[in-house]
Amino acid sequence: MAVTVQAVPCLSDNYAWLLRDAATGTIALCDPGEAAPAIEAIEEEGGRLDLILLTHHHADHVDGVEALRARYGARVIGAAADAHRLPRLDEAVRPGDTVRVGETEGQVIDSPGHTLGHIAFYFADGDVLLCGDTLFSLGCGRLLEGTAQDMFRALGLLKALPPQTLVCCGHEYTQSNARFALTVEPENAALQRRAGEVDAARAAGQPTLPVTLGQELETNPFLRAESAEALARIRAAKDNFR
Ligand code: ZN
Ligand code: FE
Repeated sequence: MAVTVQAVPCLSDNYAWLLRDAATGTIALCDPGEAAPAIEAIEEEGGRLDLILLTHHHADHVDGVEALRARYGARVIGAAADAHRLPRLDEAVRPGDTVRVGETEGQVIDSPGHTLGHIAFYFADGDVLLCGDTLFSLGCGRLLEGTAQDMFRALGLLKALPPQTLVCCGHEYTQSNARFALTVEPENAALQRRAGEVDAARAAGQPTLPVTLGQELETNPFLRAESAEALARIRAAKDNFR
């Protein structure tokens, strides 16, 4: 059976992601940076929260956890490697492990770079990738702890997923990412098209996510970088881009 996914806007530009297992009605929430908007979304879905999935330890991804755990009794799943700096984990997972949302299995993928203990969750049944601050639409996370080599390897794992995969990122950064991406690949027609669609979506107050991995493979300069060195150069240019 499959999961379906819904964006829950949090804080100024974060997304938590609400997953629902079709067979059982089990609900999971990824990266609740804030409790109030998550509670609103959960109540609309029937007032049940079974699991909380965490990609990494930053406050804008975990600050809603304790309030949600207290209210719904949800079990919290995160990286064993980061257990010391995550909220208390009920289940500590490692890359290669599987997690279950009802009857749907998800795969834990190692994705260091932004932080060292960062993980992603991939649900083949439903084509859902929860990638936190590793991969953004038209961008990637800042290298706060890991190296360009780490990020290149992490993006390589994500790139290998099926093109119809729905990329569910931790932030709505797409519009500013598009401005930068166009400086890297000004002639990329797919990127030009995507940038126009993103501007229209944002002007209408709509999210630009999720986006398919296939779309990102055609437009995201960080995913398209052919070496860790090339990725490092693009990342450095982005860090200095205004
Ligand atoms: Zn982060
Ligand atoms: Fe973040």
